Amino acid sequence: MATQSLYRRYRPRRFAELKGQEHVVRALREAVRTGREGQAYLFSGPRGTGKTTTARILAKVLNCTAPVDGEPCCECDSCLSVERGTSYDVHELDAASNNSVEDVRSLIDKVSLATPGRHKVYILDEVHMLGPGASAALLKVLEEPPPHVVFVLATTDPQRLKDTIRSRTQHLQFHLLPSDTLAEHLRWVADDAGIDIDSSVIDAALEQGGGSARDSLSALELLAATGGDVSDHIDLDEFVSAFVDTDTGRALAAVAHAVSMGHDPRTLTEHLLRHLRNLFLSLMAPELVQVRHDRLDELASLARALGAAGLVRSMERLGQALVEMRFAPDPRIMLEISLVQLTRDDTGDDTGALLARLERLERAVRDGSQRAPEPAAPVDPGTGKAVLGGRARRSAEVKATESAPTPATAAESTVPSSPTEVVPETPSAPVDLRRVIEVWESSVRAGLKPLVRALFSAGEFVGFDSPATARFRAPNPAHGARCSAHLAEVATALGRALGSEVTIVLDDTPETPATTATNTADSVEEPIDPTELVDVPPSDVPTPVDSITKAFPGAQVVERND
Ligand SMILES: [Zn+2]
Repeated sequence: MATQSLYRRYRPRRFAELKGQEHVVRALREAVRTGREGQAYLFSGPRGTGKTTTARILAKVLNCTAPVDGEPCCECDSCLSVERGTSYDVHELDAASNNSVEDVRSLIDKVSLATPGRHKVYILDEVHMLGPGASAALLKVLEEPPPHVVFVLATTDPQRLKDTIRSRTQHLQFHLLPSDTLAEHLRWVADDAGIDIDSSVIDAALEQGGGSARDSLSALELLAATGGDVSDHIDLDEFVSAFVDTDTGRALAAVAHAVSMGHDPRTLTEHLLRHLRNLFLSLMAPELVQVRHDRLDELASLARALGAAGLVRSMERLGQALVEMRFAPDPRIMLEISLVQLTRDDTGDDTGALLARLERLERAVRDGSQRAPEPAAPVDPGTGKAVLGGRARRSAEVKATESAPTPATAAESTVPSSPTEVVPETPSAPVDLRRVIEVWESSVRAGLKPLVRALFSAGEFVGFDSPATARFRAPNPAHGARCSAHLAEVATALGRALGSEVTIVLDDTPETPATTATNTADSVEEPIDPTELVDVPPSDVPTPVDSITKAFPGAQVVERND
């Protein structure tokens, strides 16, 4: 049993099926039709634009027993063997992994051998990766190729190829696909494969694919595998909006949400960088942005909101984070630190930060609103997203406690402050439950990190025992387990505000004692009554094949081993 990726399944088999490379197709078909094919071609262009696919179609038509109008028949034995990769007439070498003199020499040794077909086609992928010795060996054979041999050199980087090699080839350049062509193609593939998705999924695949047919199809496949639910894909605009609003909580909540959907921090950072680049281009060179036209307007207005300086600074900072991630035990922390810096002017005194700040002030003056940067909005623990209207509530809380000590910020609270710096609010007040709740509501809660604040906002303090132990009750055991990881941190903040050390323990919740819970499961499981369990009828049990075809819509069983 095997599933075939969309990219392989919808790989063009004829020149006419190649998308967006009309100039290449015209040149090659014409050469084949008139029997004037070259002996060495250089195909250059970005990855995923169809270079090796085109090389294989060329190999196919050159050996086809019944070519039609410069196209292979795709039915004769020769065509089929090329498609299966078993043809003796076609030799492929990936120079990225086989770049020694020996590799090229053993390939070239075959050049002079007799061949069953009319043409022997050598496809050298990533040819710029060949070492100096291998390049010299290749040049030698290109200088005097045997008459029945055609070389196709493919590269993403033609500048790195020796001039002596380049000058012996016919150079054909492959382009990234225009977004409308690619959108049309993705829609066609989805329909043909029976994948039921709406246009927002196509847009998302298009943006992730960056103009490469292969990458766009892979993205489409991945999105389709998650049921085509776009809520599962990362909302990159959310990050940019957080930068615009200097809303740290919102940015961190967006990370938490993406990670909870299964995206790893490194890939998330790469996606975000690519998105910022698109935003930047939407201002500077809109024709280069790989999105549909109506989406382009949205991008441009978001880009204007952040400003060119802000965009550049964000790209620089996240680019740096990607480098730092290579050495970091936890890449998520590197991403979060960058986001904190990008959403808080006061954590950076570099020119970029100052420029971004200036630009934002200028814009505020222009808009007639001089909105001061606001504190972060709280996060809903259920969804990991910022709470709507939470910012207004939060501002009110801050105003109400202006006399209280400055709440620790997300960035500062990661650095434990020395106890000698603590200025207690009311040093001599006796501590009891009422006092704990009062201090908690008035100053401590607002100063916690967004995630911690969100977690603890869902519960309440229910008791105070001697000596100095506050009892906190979470809404359920699973939530309690998540809170337990932050008890010490919250106790420190509470103790600082109370002016004396306190310990926080989790109070028992109705079902199970949360204090003994050690797992940090994110989901809350319904209690199950074992007496109510019944067997599922055998016909209702999904087979592994059912599960896989459900996960990969449009997949078909091609071989069954039972
Ligand atoms: Zn054929």
